[in-house]
Amino acid sequence: MNKLLSEVDPQVVEITTKDLARQQNTLMLIPSENYASRAVMEIQGSILANKYAEGYPGERYYNGCEFMDEVESLAIDRAKALFGAEHVNVQPHAGSQANMAVYHALLQPGDTILGMSLSQGGHLTHGAHVNFSGNLYNIAAYGVDADTEQIDMDDVGRLAEEHRPKLIVVGATAYPRHFDFASWRQVADSVGAYLLADIAHIAGLIAGGAHPDPVPYSDVVTTTTHKTLRGPRGAMIMCRSEYADKIDRAVFPGLQGGPFLHTIAARAVAFKEASEPEFKKYQGQIVKNAKALAARLIENGFRLVSGGTDNHLMLIDLTSKYEKMSGRQAADHLEDAGIIVNKNTIPFDKRKPRTTSGLRLGTPMVTTRGMEEDAMVQIADFITEALEGRQKNSIKQRIQEKVKEFCTQFPIYEYLN
Ligand SMILES: *Cc1c(COP(=O)(O)O)cnc(C)c1O
Repeated sequence: MNKLLSEVDPQVVEITTKDLARQQNTLMLIPSENYASRAVMEIQGSILANKYAEGYPGERYYNGCEFMDEVESLAIDRAKALFGAEHVNVQPHAGSQANMAVYHALLQPGDTILGMSLSQGGHLTHGAHVNFSGNLYNIAAYGVDADTEQIDMDDVGRLAEEHRPKLIVVGATAYPRHFDFASWRQVADSVGAYLLADIAHIAGLIAGGAHPDPVPYSDVVTTTTHKTLRGPRGAMIMCRSEYADKIDRAVFPGLQGGPFLHTIAARAVAFKEASEPEFKKYQGQIVKNAKALAARLIENGFRLVSGGTDNHLMLIDLTSKYEKMSGRQAADHLEDAGIIVNKNTIPFDKRKPRTTSGLRLGTPMVTTRGMEEDAMVQIADFITEALEGRQKNSIKQRIQEKVKEFCTQFPIYEYLN
């Protein structure tokens, strides 16, 4: 048990080293990803992974949990302080499980949920028919207005009136604008629905004061911890005290067994990092960078869904510039040039989800690397050149070399090299 990984399994080390090089040498613009800090990764790979601790601090089903209680309580207290939440459960293994637990706690199968449609920016767990949420619950979906490509609260109010949902989910995975949570609360109250804010993408922005805060207006808030929040992979649920028992019982024993204490400890570390002044600056810079990237893409002739961005991400409508190129093809061309983005449907997309007419780009990772607005102009130009020169491998190859060279100015994880 004392051998190094390199002695035990050089094959896995080799694969990981190749991905380290990829993470260093490419521009990673996927808005749901981030580089976790060395400190977060250190504790994730720690001895805390060896313990079973079913239950909650002070009431475990296993013995030997003294320090598990300590570390989980620390994570909970830090999360409460960071977001001003009354109750926090830090055990959900991922965002999907967190949402599942909320539905399980507050709804019966067959109850109606009003959520954002997947094709217009919602998450799978907001009622997609391929997901448990679409199978177990009756789903009504809201989308964006055809002209503004933004959510129209009058329309949401009408849908709520028509479908009388028991729970409304506000949140998205591909929506570049702010959510006005106070208006969502009004709609929920008008029909007596619970309001769940799913802030998986924007939790870091909220903690850093760069997006309106849902906590005062929501019954429950769910989030992942690995996106803009820049912690380990995982999730948590915040709720009003009156729902605490139901939520806790839904997570364990309702849906999960033993918590992953090593990632819960890593969440504690991430919450500490998120409470530092630099984190606020980081989140502000993510938004400034997104605006700079968006502005340059528009200058370069691309149309962005809703005309721009308020947060960390944007959607390019490729149909405005290229009749024939799908999102899938564009994302593959960009990968050839060392730029990693998502293909993504745009509102009212004529293509299928596997093909799509759009690209989704975000700035959390490049901002973590220390890039600022001038670098965003450069990135927009790389993207433009790569798509213009897509037919020629030599052009994409040349851009890939330029991207790699550019990336050397912004090193990641120097201690691993
Ligand atoms: C990413 C995301 C989730 C779920 O995350 P997983 O950890 O991948 O299960 C849930 N909701 C929204 C809005 C997301 O963007």
